[in-house]
Amino acid sequence: MPSPSTPRSVRYSPLGQQFADPEPILADIRRLVASGDFTLGKVVGEFEAMFAAMLGTRHAIGVGSGTDALKVSLKAAGLEPGDEVITAANTFWATVGAIAELGARPVFVDCDDMFGLDIDRLEAAIGPRTRAIVPVQLTGDVVDMPRIMEIARAHKLPVIEDACQSLLGEWEGRKAGTFGLAGAFSMHPLKIINVWGDAGVVVTDDDAIDRRCRLLRNHGLRNRNEMEILGYNTRLDSLQAVVGKHMLPQVPGWVEGRAAAAAYYDRAFADIPQLRIPHRDPRSKNVYLLYVLFAEHRDELHAHCVAEGIEAKVHYPIPVYRQQALRYLGHKEGDFPVADRHAREVITFPVDQYLSHAEQDRVVDVVRSFYQKRR
Ligand SMILES: *Cc1c(COP(=O)(O)O)cnc(C)c1O
Repeated sequence: MPSPSTPRSVRYSPLGQQFADPEPILADIRRLVASGDFTLGKVVGEFEAMFAAMLGTRHAIGVGSGTDALKVSLKAAGLEPGDEVITAANTFWATVGAIAELGARPVFVDCDDMFGLDIDRLEAAIGPRTRAIVPVQLTGDVVDMPRIMEIARAHKLPVIEDACQSLLGEWEGRKAGTFGLAGAFSMHPLKIINVWGDAGVVVTDDDAIDRRCRLLRNHGLRNRNEMEILGYNTRLDSLQAVVGKHMLPQVPGWVEGRAAAAAYYDRAFADIPQLRIPHRDPRSKNVYLLYVLFAEHRDELHAHCVAEGIEAKVHYPIPVYRQQALRYLGHKEGDFPVADRHAREVITFPVDQYLSHAEQDRVVDVVRSFYQKRR
């Protein structure tokens, strides 16, 4: 019997706790409203400087979303309609959406059990029309970026890193998003850093890419009256920059909290034979946006967890390459068997800086009892 102090339900999102006291943010928003400085104002520049300092890059450019961070940086890298862009066969929709929105063709590489693209298969996917590689740091783990960069350099291809799920993740001490020509981050409420709506950031060390991203996010305008190139309207909102400035200093502590919670789960789940913990590469600093395990009887386990009040999720039940929207690419189930296996086996449990050991124990108990009952 659970003791009275054992929580019954375990929620997924930590936002309620994270924004329990919005007053300091609201006070700054009142000041913003009084100033009327609503677009690309002072606070956007301040936020960008803080973000670049945290990542250790020369530049950070605030945009409207993580999707637009990918779109703008790919466009800045010179992507044209008809070009091919290599990415992982399973990723969040936006990686592929951003590529397709520019008129380019996504070319998939199957995943490996770190959830990124399988680097052993990367070179075989490069063809005469390949114009960029978009590796994805899925779940918060970081893949072997130096190896990807070596292959990209050999083929003279730019790398745009989709680091939307891995803010402050690292590979051998170097931060996710800082390996390639540019890196894309999201500040959507389900990511590592959260604002009060949509927002994204591009980071780069390249001055020309920085300049082009700044033009592209604001109609291609060089100044008030001169449009240098065709662009978009995808500026980081000043209001979201205010929220972001409050969040950013807390992120290092949060990712430590997430990693500690993940390590606690790893120890607790280790002796359940129907579960498999993904490979934890010691060179990667995983920030655990998602705590994902491979599970036998995944769908039944998921249903059992939800019925017991554990907000478990599945990221993602249908891999992106098999989505209806991408039917025109002509793929069929089985083309990327590792992505297919992931779609069948993965389950995500709540993990964040606020989760208590009692809540984690409850998650583990519910999972354990599921497999015990099945025997
Ligand atoms: C969330 C996410 C994006 C897109 O970010 P938005 O801010 O939601 O547009 C892109 N790629 C990955 C891997 C993501 O998780």
